[in-house]
Amino acid sequence: CGIVGYIGQKQAINILTRGLKHLEYRGYDSVGVAVLDNGKVTSYKTKGKVDMLIDQVNKENIYGTIGIGHTRWATHGVPSDKNAHPHSDNAERFFVVHNGIIENYVELKNMLKEKGHVFTSETDTEVVPHLIDDFFDKDLETTILNIIKKIKGSYAMAIVDKTNPDKIIVVRKDSPLIIGLGKEENYVASDIPALLEYTKNMYILEDGEIAVITQSDVKVLDINGKAIDKEVFTANWDA
Ligand code: GLU
Repeated sequence: CGIVGYIGQKQAINILTRGLKHLEYRGYDSVGVAVLDNGKVTSYKTKGKVDMLIDQVNKENIYGTIGIGHTRWATHGVPSDKNAHPHSDNAERFFVVHNGIIENYVELKNMLKEKGHVFTSETDTEVVPHLIDDFFDKDLETTILNIIKKIKGSYAMAIVDKTNPDKIIVVRKDSPLIIGLGKEENYVASDIPALLEYTKNMYILEDGEIAVITQSDVKVLDINGKAIDKEVFTANWDA
């Protein structure tokens, strides 16, 4: 299972599908992507192989220079198109990819259902975009810092907001996540090799760290929102 992300000046779809191919060896049953462009989201997801997703996206012109992608290894909910990630809230504004397990998802799901949220998958993950929607305080960063305290379990997640397609926010606990640092572009992946063709400079996120990634900047925070002075890791081997 794996996560990829891109924000920069290139067309995101190509980088996302290429990244997902790199992560195939980790094992998975479904794949999906979401690409943002001027208040519009294009999302494709399917049970099956990355090549099936590539066949679908090749039939379209998918424009957008920010996006996230996922290979799923189902833990909660069977492998199916609708359980594939990314997942979103009912307004289809916030899109989330997740590796790991939200242990208290039943409790969260019941609370959200009572507030009127309608769930479209059987995954534990789907509570996350609904939580973001429910607790949204007009700032994605502070909202995520708030909801992350309500979630128990393991996660590597990448989150985007259709309305503000200028950042990817990632969080990590007990599941790997690497940020590749480029020039006017930045990358996200579950492992270092997936990024080596683009950059050798990376941040390796530690447990409990959150990163706000824009085209020109990466800000790493602790769980309380305090800035962390993160050391750049330089990979000295070739792709
Ligand atoms: N628990 C999530 C699901 O079943 C994520 C699985 C994964 O790590 O790919 O959808």
